[in-house]
Amino acid sequence: MKDLSVYIHIPFCERKCNYCAFVSYCLSEEKQNEYIDKLIFEIKSFAKNDKNIKERVVKTIYFGGGTPSLLSIQNFHKIFKAINDNFKLSQNTEITIEVNPNSVDVEKLLEYKKLGINRVSVGVQSLSSRTLKQIGRLHDKKTALNSIKLISQYFDNISADLIIGLQGEKNITKYAKKLIKLKVKHISCYMLEIHENTKMLNLVNEKKYKPLSDDMVVKAYTKLSKFLTKNGFLQYEISNFAQKGYESKHNLTYWTFKDYVGFGVSAHSYIDGVRYENASNLKDYYLGKRLSEPKSEKTEIEERIMLGLRCYEGVSIKKLKDLGYNILENENCKAFLQKGILRKENGKLFLEPSYYVVSDYIIEHLI
Ligand code: SF4
Repeated sequence: MKDLSVYIHIPFCERKCNYCAFVSYCLSEEKQNEYIDKLIFEIKSFAKNDKNIKERVVKTIYFGGGTPSLLSIQNFHKIFKAINDNFKLSQNTEITIEVNPNSVDVEKLLEYKKLGINRVSVGVQSLSSRTLKQIGRLHDKKTALNSIKLISQYFDNISADLIIGLQGEKNITKYAKKLIKLKVKHISCYMLEIHENTKMLNLVNEKKYKPLSDDMVVKAYTKLSKFLTKNGFLQYEISNFAQKGYESKHNLTYWTFKDYVGFGVSAHSYIDGVRYENASNLKDYYLGKRLSEPKSEKTEIEERIMLGLRCYEGVSIKKLKDLGYNILENENCKAFLQKGILRKENGKLFLEPSYYVVSDYIIEHLI
């Protein structure tokens, strides 16, 4: 049997957040229905054309966005029907939905449960109403906390996103503490990136928003990592912390080179060693445009080092050797091992978590 993970991109949002550079649109219900029909067509076509479909078992499904919780329940039923008709699911398939605090209610949560969704990822980002307003989110602190309380009545496996760079070390740990108290089992912390063509960039240029300095961001990240580790969370990837058994199986697929297929605009896939990328605008996606990147040993070596060292799974020395790279002969690798920055165990190399903050530098010197 071949494990498969499925990603489904739901690119709808009520309003664009100031920092957002994701592929997301504010669309009418009619346009949403049109998108879902195309998405279902893509699911069916993949299953029809994949030579390994009979051996595949879907271990994880992830609804990401955009704001999947904006999608109508009817459309969710349609997607689940297409999945169930075309794929074999395992008994304990992890099924995650990303939600925004202001777009969940009891009715939706009950339907998600009925559909088999068993993990909810909440886009909290901050617990300061002022900051949330500044970055253009539609929820405030109270809505975020109430939504988690509500979700926890129906789901045990809850994740929350926080953005580092929006808040200093003191506040970010204060917010993490609140989330833990509400029984959140998984916390993802992402850096604030200020992209071209976003309102945020204009605000920064007009001096209406002042991002934290790099130094403050590093301090906030380090403090948060220490705090979460001390409170029973395992840092299983550079940006992800989980209580034991609550690591995201879906994300681990990406970092451990297992097959995954992405459906929807801008979705990525990695199937039998080949990477695919769907068009990142609706017009081209509807025309079925997508790019594929041929297998390359050089790229695979680089990706294995990059993804493996940022994750508690580490990087297999043998796998790199099979691809033609003996990493142990790399002088920088020898030095990092000697200094205790890298650790060698059971045929794998690991980056010590206290050096995650400088992982880019270390990885750069290994590839
Ligand atoms: S909710 Fe997420 S995807 Fe939607 S606009 Fe905000 S940041 Fe972008």
